[in-house]
Amino acid sequence: MSVLPLEELRTAVGAEHVLVDAGLTASYERDWTGRFGARAGCVVRPADTAQVAEVVRTCAAAGVPVVVQGGNTGLVGGAVPAGGEVLLSLTRLTELGDVDVAAGQVTAGAGVTLGRLQDHARAAGLDFGVDLAARDSATVGGLVATNAGGIRVLRYGSMRAQLLGAEAVLADGSVVSRMAGLLKDGTGYDLVSLLAGSEGTLGIVTQARLRLVPRLTARCVALLALPDADSAIAVLPELRRRLPHLSAAELLFADGLALVRKHGHLPAPFAEEHPAYLLLECADTTDPSDALVEAVSEADGLLDATVATDAAGQRALWAYREQHTEAINAEGVPVKLDVSVPTGRLPELAARLTPTVAGVVPAARTIVFGHVNEGNLHVNVLDAGDDAERVTDAVLRLVAELEGSISSEHGVGRAKTAWLSLSRSRTEIAAMRAIKTALDPQGVLNPGVLLPAV
Ligand SMILES: Cc1cc2nc3c(=O)[nH]c(=O)nc-3n(C[C@H](O)[C@H](O)[C@H](O)COP(=O)(O)OP(=O)(O)OC[C@H]3O[C@@H](n4cnc5c(N)ncnc54)[C@H](O)[C@@H]3O)c2cc1C
Repeated sequence: MSVLPLEELRTAVGAEHVLVDAGLTASYERDWTGRFGARAGCVVRPADTAQVAEVVRTCAAAGVPVVVQGGNTGLVGGAVPAGGEVLLSLTRLTELGDVDVAAGQVTAGAGVTLGRLQDHARAAGLDFGVDLAARDSATVGGLVATNAGGIRVLRYGSMRAQLLGAEAVLADGSVVSRMAGLLKDGTGYDLVSLLAGSEGTLGIVTQARLRLVPRLTARCVALLALPDADSAIAVLPELRRRLPHLSAAELLFADGLALVRKHGHLPAPFAEEHPAYLLLECADTTDPSDALVEAVSEADGLLDATVATDAAGQRALWAYREQHTEAINAEGVPVKLDVSVPTGRLPELAARLTPTVAGVVPAARTIVFGHVNEGNLHVNVLDAGDDAERVTDAVLRLVAELEGSISSEHGVGRAKTAWLSLSRSRTEIAAMRAIKTALDPQGVLNPGVLLPAV
């Protein structure tokens, strides 16, 4: 690798924002799961778009690759170095514009956390359509770059659907900016949309113009106990039909719930343990409780149910779902896979996952949970030992057989590049590579992420 242009970087962002000592860089160099990471050449913390552009120009001129990082909550190793790169942290780009209530839009810097964005929108009587458990650390830039999904996709779609504009620094340090928040724009290729899900390989998002949604304060949350995944999947279409204000439908299982309860010291939701659970949330301007209770009580196969109408009770029910990721990590470094299949094939996927993993590592523990409406399951394999790659291979091949995606919402990162061809045809990968090469001919931005190395 080329020599790091440390002096130029210090000139660009200020010496105190170029970190070289291992003690200072360590927290940036390992990913949230603990599975991915390596030493960076240095960590650079620019304050604004101009500084980001200067850093990129400097690195491009020196032939040094750049790894882009937001909140470092990504789960596929895309935001951490492979070794020796300049790690560009966007967390100082925290500017948050006034909410444009009339347009229902806001401009947010790449480093604004999701939680802060939500609070800001709510203070203006609106809300943000994407929500996920890493809200206090995940940033706008990371959410755009991964096209994050989360718990409200059922109602509002994923991050791309909230994105009305973006500003980004390209690999040569030039800046593209489409921040007017136009609701219609037919002038050719949609570069903003292309940035969504590009995982830092096409440009560095420095700010985004975001759509806001109405703030719905009347909420009701229910936890349904069911005999198996099939029943949980089967009841959803009827619940969706009866509950137009349904905003979340999350699937969890007895083993995951037991882990969450153990690590969070949480009480049992029901007197008895049940095999599968469906967590539902309805949100509206008027109280949706009666409609939810009525629909739930008539759901086929129901073993038990509990409904929370007050905020504390709702938080308690959500904790069973949202603490899964942390509880699993507390047991050891997991193999984390995030897959989706056409919803009609979800029962088969749910039934075959654990036997598939057991066929590779009989002693492994497979904890599954997910966003059931989108056919999206998070597959977490503990105790895979040295067989992480073989487990990954087996699960992703099963998903491909079921015509699914090897990455539903976390991205491909470094973790899954070897399997991209299971979800994308040779022609599609060639087209993606052509776009990458056109925008970043030197391979400066996030090399080794998303597209397999050639
Ligand atoms: C507890 C927990 C729960 C989660 N739940 C969900 C969930 O429900 N749904 C979901 O989709 N994800 C979920 N995630 C994953 C993660 O939070 C998302 O992928 C999130 O979008 C990452 O944001 P970040 O700022 O942390 O990005 P990082 O982890 O820093 O980066 C992620 C990717 O984006 C790139 N990137 C970051 N910032 C920029 C930028 N400004 N410009 C260009 N590229 C950039 C990085 O290079 C990397 O490839 C969860 C993670 C945790 C830890």
